[in-house]
Amino acid sequence: MCACRCGIRVHLRDGKIRHIDGNPAHPLNKGVICAKGAAGAMKQDSPARLTRPLRRKAGAARGAGEFEPISWDEAYALLEERLGRIRATDPKKFAFFTGRDQMQALTGLFARQFGTPNYAAHGGFCSVNMAAGMIYTIGGSFWEFGGPDLERAKLFVMLGTAEDHHSNPLKIAIAKFKRDGGRFISVNPVRTGYSAIADEWIPIRPGTDGALLMALCHELVRTGRTDAEFLAQYTNAGYLVREDDGRIACAGGSPQDNPFRRHDQLWWDKASGAPVANHAAGAEPALDGSYRLADGTPVRPAFALLRERLAGCTPEWAAAITGIDAAKIRALAEEMGRTALEQSFELPIAWTDSWGRRHGSVRGNPVAFHAMRGLAAHSNGFHAVRALSILMTLLGTIDRPGGFRHKAPFPRSTPPVYARLPQAGGAVQPGLPLAGAALAFPAGPDELQVDDAGRPLRIDKAFSWEHPLAVHGMMHNVIANAWRGDPYPIDTLLIFMANMAWNSSMNTPEARRMLNDKDASGEYKIPFLVVCDAFQSETTAYADLVLPDTTYLERHDVMSLLDRPISEFDGPVDSVRVPVVPPTGECRPFQDVLVELAGRLKLPAFTNADGTRKFRDYADFIVNFETEPGSGQGFLIGWRGKDGDQALLGAPNPRQWERYAENNCVFHYAMPPEHQYMRNWNRGYNEWAVEMKLRRHPDPVVIAIYAEVLQGFRLAAQGRGPAKRRPPEAWRARVEKYFDPLPFYYAPLEAQAVDAAAYPLAAITQRPMAMYHSWDSQNAWLRQIHAHNYLFVNPRTARAAGVADGGWMKLASPWGEVRCMARHSEAVEPGTVWTWNAIGKSPGAWGLAPGANEFTRGFILNHVIAESLPDGTSNSDPVTGQAGWYDVRVRISPA
Ligand code: SF4
Repeated sequence: MCACRCGIRVHLRDGKIRHIDGNPAHPLNKGVICAKGAAGAMKQDSPARLTRPLRRKAGAARGAGEFEPISWDEAYALLEERLGRIRATDPKKFAFFTGRDQMQALTGLFARQFGTPNYAAHGGFCSVNMAAGMIYTIGGSFWEFGGPDLERAKLFVMLGTAEDHHSNPLKIAIAKFKRDGGRFISVNPVRTGYSAIADEWIPIRPGTDGALLMALCHELVRTGRTDAEFLAQYTNAGYLVREDDGRIACAGGSPQDNPFRRHDQLWWDKASGAPVANHAAGAEPALDGSYRLADGTPVRPAFALLRERLAGCTPEWAAAITGIDAAKIRALAEEMGRTALEQSFELPIAWTDSWGRRHGSVRGNPVAFHAMRGLAAHSNGFHAVRALSILMTLLGTIDRPGGFRHKAPFPRSTPPVYARLPQAGGAVQPGLPLAGAALAFPAGPDELQVDDAGRPLRIDKAFSWEHPLAVHGMMHNVIANAWRGDPYPIDTLLIFMANMAWNSSMNTPEARRMLNDKDASGEYKIPFLVVCDAFQSETTAYADLVLPDTTYLERHDVMSLLDRPISEFDGPVDSVRVPVVPPTGECRPFQDVLVELAGRLKLPAFTNADGTRKFRDYADFIVNFETEPGSGQGFLIGWRGKDGDQALLGAPNPRQWERYAENNCVFHYAMPPEHQYMRNWNRGYNEWAVEMKLRRHPDPVVIAIYAEVLQGFRLAAQGRGPAKRRPPEAWRARVEKYFDPLPFYYAPLEAQAVDAAAYPLAAITQRPMAMYHSWDSQNAWLRQIHAHNYLFVNPRTARAAGVADGGWMKLASPWGEVRCMARHSEAVEPGTVWTWNAIGKSPGAWGLAPGANEFTRGFILNHVIAESLPDGTSNSDPVTGQAGWYDVRVRISPA
């Protein structure tokens, strides 16, 4: 049901759902199920179900929720005409944004084929800092693409992770880890969920994790508790950085293996006292010192620059920022370093590295980490996550047993090249697909999506100079930018499964006002709004056209390797859903709707040479679509080939869905042990990964302690460097500051802009275990767990403000005020208040009765969050565009 993608069994009687339980044979959750999963029957029968296509009644205001039912034929005809007209004239006037769905490979393909760059899912709101910060550093990231190996870890450190995150699989793993004697430390402002069962809770002020992580790195480097061999061989710690322009010195050869990444960077060889190509036979790189190349250019190893950067990041410095005692920071660093180095072990698994050297074993340094939105959802999150990635690297824990391990299709290059944005000159063209992917990982300024004057090409301003590495797009900017017509007006906004009039916007009242606002001629500023959802949300009320989606129990779905699979550490795993009950009313799976529209619009990938449509429906598309004709690569990796006897690649198999259904809806490809570790630099794995189309190139993924990609942007801001593009004057200083090739800590942008004395508290939210985003207030069983929410306040803080336990209070930020109820709690650090996300609802939504607790006693924090800062810039990370919605500063008083 949710993004954890656990396997379930649905038990029917007389065609009706009687009971749902976890599937013991499923590799992810092994039979464990959560409250949301077990309550799926009530979701199916929810009074909030949308069951017919609806059109806003003529003359009815948006938001009033006054609709008339129409047929699917009418809905399709309306969309075909409107979207066809947009595609034939100016495809970028169609914007397509989705929530936490499981079909981004399909929605992204649709957008690209349509020809619009204005596409993204919700990642810019959620945790893009986590994805980008790690992928640009180590070539992989947490959750779907990697995680802690708790089977072999001895110490597990979790930062900023809500209790529903990665849910059942992580809970199973932590339970076993603790039974086996592992030590679990949680760093979090709030002690609930995972933190409540940690052996040690370290409360921290929100938005300051970067300072803690820098101080931990400082301590490890100062005390020498680092894995020096790992740093020298597998990271760019020994690469020589030119002091004149901050670029990495190269031998001057042409790129090998990978045309986008060169591998001829220089080391300073300790023995010969001369620069040599990295990994030259017998060479050992210096990690410290200052040197000169033959032409006199001064250079320093990247590690020396890191050491210098860390010098001022003392525990005392971090203590003043984080609220954690300096002695505690020192002790934590010591515990990490000692565990990694003194409890290290070898697994007898022989493997060959990218430079042809044979190793007899794989080493494990048993310290594992996990982190998520608590680190990410701040405007300083990218550098905090870079610092975390470097901390993990100093300890030598990347893709090693007991540390962080990748999951297929990762690792990938830093940054990946499997998809590329339209290159310079690849303008949006009427009637044609986009000349590149809508979302990818830019490697430099010349890949930005800006025009010759440096203005953004996307409606959300992702990949612009304001947010160059916005690799997940910026859903949270769409409504405000489209309303302003900045950088241009759009015609149609299609929203799938994203509650953008409520909890998926940073400033809820403003977003609702903008959706309803008209220009001087009486036309809505966002002319046409299409919303597809299974349930009546706050957002559906604003739609001009509502498309009723099926539930997860009524449709086919895939958790694809082209998207976000459920891979395990030992190999690629994908899975499917198959329908267990027929669609309710006239509901249609959104995937079928997209395939139908793509056929009607004759998008090339969905159309035969003779103009007829290629795919009957989504199920047919999944079986028969190939990324390139004849490539054998499709959405599913199991039972490929005509006879179903091939894995990963193979011709389409007409019985593929049946084969998955017969196998608990899962396909698991276990790799040989020699391919399961050290994959960044594992020659055998990387050659196999290229053969299987998991990677484009077999070259090593060297960990970027020093991120030359960031330096490329900084040089452009300084008016030099190889990139042709330079930022406009207005963005130069910002790009130069934040595109630092080494991580650094700065206070979140909002904290810099707000009077800290007037708003002394940080306010954050997290998702509860029993509710998924805003989707579960329509579920009668789950409402018995949460129908309203409190603001949790440390008793000391509450008493000082005169706020009683259970009393009504005002929560004010510089941007707004909301009334809520207080709950005193020792499980939150005194400078933070927090609440559950999206329990409070808007009257009239979710099929709830008038006067429901969600309206009268619940609230959402988004009422006091701003989407823009006082200087007019987006309240987002200046590198990635991640929404800084955990940065809001507040004060409290009795109401
Ligand atoms: S965690 Fe998500 S996928 Fe797993 S059982 Fe619960 S609702 Fe279902």
